Amino acid sequence: MIVAKFGGTSLADAQQFQKVAAIVQANPERQYIVPSAPGKRSADDIKITDQLINLYHAVKTGEQIKPIVQTIKERYVGIGFALNLPLKSFLEDFDDFAKNLSKDSTYAEVVSRGEHWSAMLLSECLGLPFLDATEVVRFSPDGKLDAQTTSELMAKIALPLGGCVMPGFYGADAQGNIHLFDRGGSDISGALLAQAVNADQYENWTDINGVRSADPRIIPDAKFINQMTYRELRELSYMGASVLHEDAVFPVRSASIPTRIRNTNDPLHPGTLIYSTTVSTGKPPSITGIAGKKGFSFVMLEKARMNVEVGFARRTLQVFEDLGLSIDHMPTGIDEMCVILSTDQLAKKKEILFKRLEKAVAPDRLSIQNNKAMVAVVGHSAFKQNGVSSRLYTALCEAGIQISTTLMSPSGLSIIVGIREEMLNHAILTLYNAFIRD
Ligand code: ASP
Repeated sequence: MIVAKFGGTSLADAQQFQKVAAIVQANPERQYIVPSAPGKRSADDIKITDQLINLYHAVKTGEQIKPIVQTIKERYVGIGFALNLPLKSFLEDFDDFAKNLSKDSTYAEVVSRGEHWSAMLLSECLGLPFLDATEVVRFSPDGKLDAQTTSELMAKIALPLGGCVMPGFYGADAQGNIHLFDRGGSDISGALLAQAVNADQYENWTDINGVRSADPRIIPDAKFINQMTYRELRELSYMGASVLHEDAVFPVRSASIPTRIRNTNDPLHPGTLIYSTTVSTGKPPSITGIAGKKGFSFVMLEKARMNVEVGFARRTLQVFEDLGLSIDHMPTGIDEMCVILSTDQLAKKKEILFKRLEKAVAPDRLSIQNNKAMVAVVGHSAFKQNGVSSRLYTALCEAGIQISTTLMSPSGLSIIVGIREEMLNHAILTLYNAFIRD
């Protein structure tokens, strides 16, 4: 059985709804469907979720809301009309919502409706029951997901249905107050449902043919990855490759359910399959992808005989923790230590950080280097093979790119290099040519 989540562009208009229906009907295993709200139909269009956010603000500030309400309604009515769907329940629900809009309406109550109505229409279109996410996606009163109760409710309510359409992006607390995930959160709803109904696969339908091996803004023809592990995905996403919402990985990964990223506009393309463990291809491990990110700072500490000073690392890290600074990497030498973190975190805390570090560990030298980028070259076990890292350093050296620091993950999954920010695109292109381009 498959849980299939469809993103906003997959449901942007009637034609896209039709494509979704054809995809669902093409495979009887696709029984649990999780839609987003209708997205953009063209570059200058506005997503329904954004329209609802505007509506919410208009209600709060007492502006005219009629035109926004009308635009939103017409979008759904247009889809329903073109597909000849019964609109009675939708219209009742919509008019009820519009009538009850008031300054007391919460953000989540308003903004969640995009997915809610999308699911209502899709359930008519597919002939599958509608399951409101408020019944099964449980949040605690503080707005955090209650994963355990969600899983139990889904198993109790969604599983016996044998199939349904459940709106993404929201749920409710035990009192019935609606809560939202972050933007892009329908990915999480789909992953939770896949885990709870123990799906064989979680399909995430979007508008591209899977995960790219490098950022297409830098490498326009970057290849799509056929298959990769969740760990590889995590490394690439951390460095900025945006594919799935980060929190959508954990539920399926922990249940060993593979995710497949697929393209609603090219449904015969196999997309990218993401597994918990590597699938043996019979070929030696190779580089899966390259990603990089700007905006890092290096906090450099030097102290003679640092290596024998018991507790030096702990006291240093305690200072960062006390200031609420999260650390990305920490390469060390014998008498030196470098703490790498995002520059924006440091903006207002540099002075106090230095003062506290002086007090905590009395370094001989303390300095900071800004404008750093980090580039990750990722491939399951790739760097365990002889010669792969040497190819990486040789390629960067021949391209005139100076390496400030380098880190290899203990499992050989990735090498991350720190470089000057302005060299980022050049480095990604160089490494792509060295490892991925045919
Ligand atoms: N519609 C919401 C958004 O635009 C959630 C989603 O699409 O996953 O962020």
